Amino acid sequence: MQLFWHRRDLRTTDNRGLAAAAEEGPVVAVFCFDDAVLEHAGPPRVAFLLDALASLRERYRDLGGDLVVRRGDPSAVLPRVAGECGADRVVWNHDYSGLARERDEAVRAALDDAGVAHEQFHDAVLHEPGAIRTNAGDPYSVYTYFWRKWRDREKDDPAPEPTTGDLAARGEVLGADATGELPGLGALGFDQPEADVPAASTAAARELLADFCEADIYEYGDARDYPAADATSRLSPHLKFGTVGVREVYERTEDAAAGADGEAERESVAAFRGQLAWREFYAQVLYFNPEVVTENYRDYERDVEWRDDPEELAAWKRGETGFPVVDAGMRQLREEAYVHNRVRMVVASFLTKDLLADWRAGYEWYREKLVDHDTANDSGGWQWAASTGTDAQPYFRVFNPTTQGERYDPDAEYVREYVPELRGVPAAKIHDWPDLDAAERDRLAPDYPDPIVDHAERRERAIATFEAARGDD
Ligand SMILES: Cc1cc2nc3c(=O)[nH]c(=O)nc-3n(C[C@H](O)[C@H](O)[C@H](O)COP(=O)(O)OP(=O)(O)OC[C@H]3O[C@@H](n4cnc5c(N)ncnc54)[C@H](O)[C@@H]3O)c2cc1C
Repeated sequence: MQLFWHRRDLRTTDNRGLAAAAEEGPVVAVFCFDDAVLEHAGPPRVAFLLDALASLRERYRDLGGDLVVRRGDPSAVLPRVAGECGADRVVWNHDYSGLARERDEAVRAALDDAGVAHEQFHDAVLHEPGAIRTNAGDPYSVYTYFWRKWRDREKDDPAPEPTTGDLAARGEVLGADATGELPGLGALGFDQPEADVPAASTAAARELLADFCEADIYEYGDARDYPAADATSRLSPHLKFGTVGVREVYERTEDAAAGADGEAERESVAAFRGQLAWREFYAQVLYFNPEVVTENYRDYERDVEWRDDPEELAAWKRGETGFPVVDAGMRQLREEAYVHNRVRMVVASFLTKDLLADWRAGYEWYREKLVDHDTANDSGGWQWAASTGTDAQPYFRVFNPTTQGERYDPDAEYVREYVPELRGVPAAKIHDWPDLDAAERDRLAPDYPDPIVDHAERRERAIATFEAARGDD
């Protein structure tokens, strides 16, 4: 008997560890709510997780098996469930953060003590951390070089779904009432999220993937930067929680590439694959540098003198900075637990450069509010914007929120969607908002805030602060 331990791979299809376990004998699937992990979670992610687990359990039941659900420290729970089921091997897929690796080490030790074999597989990425290295054998710290090798390397096919015969029959190994109830949000200590959280299931992910690969993927190269265009895949929470497998996503891009009409469409498909490669680039950065979650990556920028201004930070969180694109992004976050990538960069630059707030404050807010928060991508994104990360934005490039709005949201559609106070204001005035005189602002949208900072001054201050940090080295 095999135990398969689900973590961030909440699906039965294209799951490499599960497929490997199924090859060896009947499988009992298990999920364990770990309070040490829940401590770092926010309501949108827990809501998504619960929905994904309900759908995973349903899929197992359709196949004649079941999903065992437990709560506790996995190093106590896994050996216990293995004993209850008479399992002689526990299989799971790798997770790459420092905390996850420490937890897995403890589980391996506990299983060793209990005399239960264990095995792990790479599943969450197409090329595991360390598989793609420089010619000198080092992990990459520059994305472009990583991408070239990643792009050219052969990719595995999706792993097969277990069949009914591969699964321990429901109720046979553990009584049907011993599989454990799925708890609600409240029982896990979370409130209902204030945001609308998307549906979490393999079917929902496949629908997004199919829709995206049918049309939007061919425009992605150009359209992905325009937040009002809704031209990206929205697969991020699914890739984070593994409701879809990355090999399946990649395979669909191959079909799309085969159906592309001309070079521009083929390049657009490649641009989308480039984002999957960014995800794997950051996974390997995290794997080889687990401290990037809490520490600046770049040595010479370790000493940036961040400012601590609770009022400015609160205005940023509320989406009341008086910079329309920034505020739209921060409100999208609260409404949808999601922010468009271009706007994530703008709001992150605003926080870390205009407000000179420590990127960790932004990371924590995203960790609480995003449905797709992912340790590797989020620390990577924040450190990119703060100019402290690998292959980051140079410190002297400070996004100008006004020109970003003019360029990427020219008709202010995105702003008007999330900032109702500005719905009746012409686009040109929305973009000019920080530079309008106070009387005009009051006439146009009396309920929308004045800008909380002068961008030009704050830009100078940020550059001077980073230069001082570099000089200190
Ligand atoms: C400050 C900041 C924080 C971020 N935090 C996260 C996070 O917590 N979780 C997260 O998944 N992404 C994060 N990103 C990256 C990116 O914004 C999201 O992945 C993307 O917006 C998700 O939308 P989508 O699924 O429609 O993406 P698509 O454009 O359709 O891209 C497809 C997939 O590629 C991956 N991807 C896309 N862009 C990036 C990127 N820049 N870096 C790494 N992977 C990428 C994601 O898995 C995404 O689902 C962050 C970016 C920034 C600037």
